[in-house]
Amino acid sequence: MKIDVLELGPMANCTYLVSEGSDALLIDPAWDMSFITHTLQQKKLTLRGVLFTHGHFDHVKFAQSLLEQTGLKGYLNENDLPLSSIDPQFLHLYQGEQTVQIGPFNLHIIPTPGHTAGSVSIQLGNAVFTGDTLFPGACGRVDLPSSDPRDMRASLAKLAHLPEDTQIYAGHSYGGKCSSTIGYERIKNPFMRNAIRDEKEQLL
Ligand SMILES: [Zn+2]
Repeated sequence: MKIDVLELGPMANCTYLVSEGSDALLIDPAWDMSFITHTLQQKKLTLRGVLFTHGHFDHVKFAQSLLEQTGLKGYLNENDLPLSSIDPQFLHLYQGEQTVQIGPFNLHIIPTPGHTAGSVSIQLGNAVFTGDTLFPGACGRVDLPSSDPRDMRASLAKLAHLPEDTQIYAGHSYGGKCSSTIGYERIKNPFMRNAIRDEKEQLL
């Protein structure tokens, strides 16, 4: 499995292109559909699925045209439908934890609300795509519509239980970095450390 990071748009968004042989998945395709389509063609990849970590505009912007063009339905947690600009006819809406098989990809979708009510983290093998829930050294904002700080702490505690060598791929490359590991964040990320402590003290 190969993971390419496409940094697109004016807000340091990270779109992830995951491939296995000639099969590909996109996570949070946004901003520049012609670049994304060109990259798929250049790498001779067939797009099998599109998933969104949440519904904020900077993670879905212009993605509807890609969905229209490919006939694929983008996976979005139902709780984020009110935030998304994509017409629901182009979405596969779901609730709760999901295991999804798309081509050769066996995905585990973990609800991680807090940044938004419908934020999810997408686990694929040794990787987890955390959207705006978990960043290297930080977490997403919790002062936005449908944000919830307590849910965020519970979600960070949940992610902290993933295997330590799990590679994190975040929704933005703030500070030039979008990747880390769960083991490193368990020790170094103050938000995750607080969440682990709160869970231990049964405050969540
Ligand atoms: Zn966001």
